Amino acid sequence: MSQKDARLAEFPNFHLVDHPLVQDKLSRMRETETSTGEFRRLMREVGVLMGYEVTRDLPLERHRITTPLVEMDAPYIQGPMIAIVPILRAGTGLADGLLELMPAARLGNIGLYRDPETHKPVEYLVKLPSSDNGLFLLVDPMLATGNSAAYAVDVLLKHGVAKEKIRLVTLLAAPEGVRVFNEKHADVPIYCASLDSHLNDHNYIIPGLGDAGDRLYGTP
Ligand code: URA
Repeated sequence: MSQKDARLAEFPNFHLVDHPLVQDKLSRMRETETSTGEFRRLMREVGVLMGYEVTRDLPLERHRITTPLVEMDAPYIQGPMIAIVPILRAGTGLADGLLELMPAARLGNIGLYRDPETHKPVEYLVKLPSSDNGLFLLVDPMLATGNSAAYAVDVLLKHGVAKEKIRLVTLLAAPEGVRVFNEKHADVPIYCASLDSHLNDHNYIIPGLGDAGDRLYGTP
């Protein structure tokens, strides 16, 4: 077993999206010199590619259609609409890519900030599509401490979303964050482009890409 596989073996719910296009774009996003516009474009493109992976097992059903030449039973995605729920604010960049792939998806928002004293997530905005929708793709590019993502799953559960419909889409994760997330939600699949090394003393992912929100929005 390679060293990389050994690290991933600790997290059976962790799906590494190691497609070369995703890895190449992620490396460009990590570079300090990458401009805001370029960073935003890459985030959206990675969102499209991750969307491809996270929906790979969606069930299909056949409908009779007529092409210009013949009739056929053509495959269509079965069941209710997909819901995309970015955690504000960095989640919006990745969600843009998912929306490009699934333009009819329902869109929700979960806004969280960290209480400066307790360091626990506090919600300031929760607006969600009906829990009757299909898959709920929870989107946050950075799984750092794991607290926000775990809290956001709790928000979806409280809203009535069945746990087996929830998937977390993220770009980078720190092992510490995956452990915290898995303490409560090891049954929620995590789709992620890289399991990075560790968190630093300020809870930044190392090697990481810096502050995803600031780089996406061009804020200092
Ligand atoms: N959030 C970020 O934007 N970057 C990190 O490295 C950790 C959390």
